Amino acid sequence: MKIQTAEGFTFSVTEVKPCLADEARVRIIAEADVDLTPILEILFLYFRNANYSSGLACVTTKKAGQTVTVFGSGRVTMTFLLSEQEARDKLVELAHIFSRAFDYLEKNEPVDSSLVREKESLSALETHKILPQTDCGDCEESGCFAFATLLVNGERDVDDCGPLKLRENIGLRKALIKLIQPITLDNAREDRSDLAKFLGLKHT
Ligand code: SF4
Repeated sequence: MKIQTAEGFTFSVTEVKPCLADEARVRIIAEADVDLTPILEILFLYFRNANYSSGLACVTTKKAGQTVTVFGSGRVTMTFLLSEQEARDKLVELAHIFSRAFDYLEKNEPVDSSLVREKESLSALETHKILPQTDCGDCEESGCFAFATLLVNGERDVDDCGPLKLRENIGLRKALIKLIQPITLDNAREDRSDLAKFLGLKHT
């Protein structure tokens, strides 16, 4: 199966198999006709739940039980998909993100390696400092630290914390998103001053 996207990428889907964890779901391997190495670090900083391996030249992101890995070679693997159609939709979505990442690369200075190191070493402790710290349980976890641990592991999302959506916590939410998603791909220069402020305020 070949997928041509509006951005000019072509994906060749080379493998579609049932998932090992759930045979009703599918996993796929696709090859994009482009070298993605130049945008790997950008993708790592953009995806909220992501791991980066410079050795393997890949970025892995997880959401709702699905795992997507993007390799510098152009290979993309996806697991836990509902159908081939979902795979197709997700590849189209990815092509849009790749295009924005290349655009970002062209219009901005190279990615600051300290941002990459900072995100690689992101800890639950640091993340916990920017949560409301009420342990209210609205997220159905035992408390904010448990939520922070899952957030860092990519198993929960910022939006799963209801109190962060309250007006009085808008600043915390913004700072938290900047911590886990330092690049938004809107091509604006990133301002991290409020993050530093929040981290400074919450340090004990
Ligand atoms: S919903 Fe938010 S504030 Fe409440 S326990 Fe979970 S992380 Fe903490």
